[in-house]
Amino acid sequence: MNRWREIADRVFVRRFAFFDQTIGAVVGRDRVLVIDTRSTLVQARELLDDLRHVSALPHVVLNTHAHFDHVLGNAAFRPCEIWGEAGCVRFMRDLGTARRAEVASTMPEIAVDVLASPIDPPDRVFERHATLDLGDRRVDVSFLGRGHTDHDVVAIVPDAGVLFAGDLVEEGAPPSFGDAFPLDWPATLGQLLDVAGDGPIVPGHGEPVDRDFAAAQLGDIAYLAELARRGWPDLRAAGHDPEGPPPAELVVDSAAHLGWPSGPVRDALSRGIAQAAGRLGVPATP
Ligand SMILES: [Zn+2]
Repeated sequence: MNRWREIADRVFVRRFAFFDQTIGAVVGRDRVLVIDTRSTLVQARELLDDLRHVSALPHVVLNTHAHFDHVLGNAAFRPCEIWGEAGCVRFMRDLGTARRAEVASTMPEIAVDVLASPIDPPDRVFERHATLDLGDRRVDVSFLGRGHTDHDVVAIVPDAGVLFAGDLVEEGAPPSFGDAFPLDWPATLGQLLDVAGDGPIVPGHGEPVDRDFAAAQLGDIAYLAELARRGWPDLRAAGHDPEGPPPAELVVDSAAHLGWPSGPVRDALSRGIAQAAGRLGVPATP
């Protein structure tokens, strides 16, 4: 069954139940750009099967960032080119094995498959920007600043007006802050809106969204970032440990304000306070 949806001329998205993940495929004259490779070799082979419904052309892969659910299927696509930002490659080399073990221990239902999936970082490494030539069309890939991680990239298909946002935008659930730089994320989403145009924005998880949705999510993240940034001086004066959990009352109030579960709010405030305290490294220069 063909579950791909053509959201613009030869630009396809396919949603998967696992993690409500959204994979992109951009078809050119000579090859197909596949955006992210899913969580395991098994899942990636399922994706490869599905891709036959889209095109028989050879593939080229882009990893939007290094989280396991976007990269652990990479090896199934070899020998094709896999593109990734330098930070994505660094993250996979430094943390890939540890993260894979962590996933295996916390998600027993995929543990065997995850551990059987090699850490196979991108071989086409770029700094900040790359242009992928698909024959009769191109896809522009850019790092717009830190946000969900320190190396998220977006992929823009200029002739179709589509932007693939990776996990900088998430639909159906709050964004994920485990590796985030919350104080930088709003400005990065501002950049994203500057380059997005009026076409669909495809999140890493969930249904494609429009500018208004992304702008509202920017507002939610900015709310949490400001709480952390403005709150830090008082928290410091009160002896708060910036590497400890955020104050429970702040979590409860913010979760109620945003209508989010407490988990992502806790992560956002925890990372935001640590960043405000200078514990997450210096801000990246644009
Ligand atoms: Zn992610």
